[in-house]
Amino acid sequence: MRVLVADDDSGARLVAKTVVEELGHECMEAANGGEAWDMFTQYQPQVLVTDRMMPPGLDGLQLCRAVRDSEQNIYTYIVLLTSMARTDEILAGIDAGADDYVIKPLDPFTLHSRLLVAQRVTSLHLELGRYRAELAKQAQTDPLTTLNNRLKLTEDLDRLHHRSVRYGRDYSLALCDIDSFKHYNDTYGHQAGDRALQAVAAVLAASGRQGEGIYRYGGEEFLLVLPEQAAPAAAVALERFRATVQALGIAHSTSPAGVLTISVGISSFVPGCETDIEELLRQADIALYEAKAAGRNRVTVATAVGCA
Ligand code: GH3
Ligand code: MG
Ligand code: MG
Repeated sequence: MRVLVADDDSGARLVAKTVVEELGHECMEAANGGEAWDMFTQYQPQVLVTDRMMPPGLDGLQLCRAVRDSEQNIYTYIVLLTSMARTDEILAGIDAGADDYVIKPLDPFTLHSRLLVAQRVTSLHLELGRYRAELAKQAQTDPLTTLNNRLKLTEDLDRLHHRSVRYGRDYSLALCDIDSFKHYNDTYGHQAGDRALQAVAAVLAASGRQGEGIYRYGGEEFLLVLPEQAAPAAAVALERFRATVQALGIAHSTSPAGVLTISVGISSFVPGCETDIEELLRQADIALYEAKAAGRNRVTVATAVGCA
């Protein structure tokens, strides 16, 4: 563990440092609250051992509060050193964010035992943090294709839309749907269908440019988000995607091309127009329907509707 000891008394710091290092941890020292805060933000120690009273500037309680306010995904175990054994002072420390307290003068054995607890608690928090990050990732990922899912799309698209409205930037959406996929499943089986979905997802992900988002939108539908691209550029990109999927050569006997293909509907945000996300998705869906009606395995751009 990395342990930060903040105390204006160099004797107390020396006792603490000896205990910390005897336990095999890394020790950093600060002689006042301001210095401790700078070191905390720079090195993110797992444990903070801080004096309650320090020279003018940040005192121990203020330091505790600052640490707690700054925490997001990490947890710092705080031991408050106090010569005030009054219960209200101790409670004020715990209330400010301390996990534990040690009454001064500092006894090495007491600090030793507190650091053992600190190690246990911080490793639990670390594990918890890993699970939390993993769960957050899972909640945004489609397990079959490992593409981002619709939940992540909502977050990303909201952000992109607001940025595009604010700075007057183009962007396009492309709804891609595998052609006659029900027949594919009926002919080759559901497991083969799953593998085909994975193959199409992988090729779409590999063909995308940096910054483009590819999401599993529904069963056999993918949504591509193309920042900074107006309809003509998006149509060129999607024509390339369409051809790449066809070139995969996944046999599909009931498809006119003899292989698995996709149809694509594109809609575009036009800077200055107040079209919202829902409307853009609706336009992409209509364009996709037109691509299907026109014979499938093609890219259709939504008919531009004037600004409201
Ligand atoms: P169209 O060309 O008009 O899009 O026809 P389609 O058959 O592709 O469209 P439809 O909506 O009738 O059928 C979609 C099929 O996609 C039906 C469904 O079983 C299949 N599907 C959806 N999700 C999955 C999946 O995760 N795995 C597999 N194997 N099939 C899926
Ligand atoms: Mg389909
Ligand atoms: Mg569909």
